Amino acid sequence: MIEAIKEIGEYALIKNNKNPENPIEVIVEDPASSPAYKHILAIRISVTESGFEYGGIQQEEYSKEKKEKYLYRKGSSKGIDLSPTSRITELEKTFNNKTIAWFKKIVSDKELVLEQEETQFLKKIYTCLVSNKDIISKDLNDKIKSFGKSENGILTLLVESEKDHLTYIGDINVFKKILVHYYSEDLYHSVTYKVDSLSYDQLCSVCKNKSEEVYGLVSTYAFYNVDKPGFVSGGFERSESWKNYPVCIKCALSLEAGKQYIEDYLKYNSYGFNYYIIPKLFHQKGNTEIYRSFEDYRKSIIDGNLSIKKEYGNLLSETEEDAFEMISKQSNALSTNLLFYEKTNAAFRILLCVEDVLPSKLRDLFETKKTIDKKNIFKNCIWNDRPLSFTFENIWYFYPRN
Ligand SMILES: [Zn+2]
Repeated sequence: MIEAIKEIGEYALIKNNKNPENPIEVIVEDPASSPAYKHILAIRISVTESGFEYGGIQQEEYSKEKKEKYLYRKGSSKGIDLSPTSRITELEKTFNNKTIAWFKKIVSDKELVLEQEETQFLKKIYTCLVSNKDIISKDLNDKIKSFGKSENGILTLLVESEKDHLTYIGDINVFKKILVHYYSEDLYHSVTYKVDSLSYDQLCSVCKNKSEEVYGLVSTYAFYNVDKPGFVSGGFERSESWKNYPVCIKCALSLEAGKQYIEDYLKYNSYGFNYYIIPKLFHQKGNTEIYRSFEDYRKSIIDGNLSIKKEYGNLLSETEEDAFEMISKQSNALSTNLLFYEKTNAAFRILLCVEDVLPSKLRDLFETKKTIDKKNIFKNCIWNDRPLSFTFENIWYFYPRN
């Protein structure tokens, strides 16, 4: 089923114009979280023979197309972002606690493995920022005065390696490398157990491809974790948990996107049970029509204009019946997984997982239901002014709930 979630994730990423093969594209976020972020304020750093120099502030209009060049990814609210691009909250604080703090952290982070040249490059920028701190602050303040009322900006850097040749941080390799490093930290580093679990040049258990790095703490749903030593096979060593379930960065990102998509479009509730309907296509890159049907379907529920078809009679509650009816009309080029779960605080418990239900099987059930509905007892027996119908609801209430 994990492959099904990954495929759904890849579909969701492509739908959102992101390439699942390019982790950077998936990781970066739009720094303009609202239309108020109209301006880009870029601190220009000029690379000269005598060293790195501050070259003023360049003000530009924000452009969505340059998202990858800005290389923004939100970090923790009190800490730094994952690159030296940040949304301006209070100018002084953003410059000190985000931009400068980012470089300070990088140059002192022992876990970060960089080429010597890269480290030198970053150290020089850091020194340049610190020694020009006051003038940069002043220039930034002057620029911000030109912002219209309720307009805001994004603070970033431009590196001028040759005269008038300005490079965004998203076009410089080392910044991308660090972004991926900090992003993937959660996938292999356990803060609780102070342990790393990753390996290099290994097969990913999800896509079966050899990957530069595989991570051992990818936990898309909280039912997989290594909290108890017994969960780790072979030596009970948490650092070795990547051997249990090695996942590459691309798959980790697709799984995350898949999880979000499932929450948005494939979540249902039946008589107090929560469950997901997870379709799995038999051919990779097969017809993704089924996903679009679920999207249209969810949209019609939200818009409140769902026309419920009574073709199959009422077996489940009305909305779910429509969802299953939709699947039952598909050809057998896909199967369906039903995952019943319970969610309490941080825990996610699987109650039941029914795998590989074919559309034809659902069709059979609906057809059988038609035959049963013709039985006299269901036609003639009136209970509470309603015909006693053969539904899961009635079965559920007829038998003691536990
Ligand atoms: Zn993979």
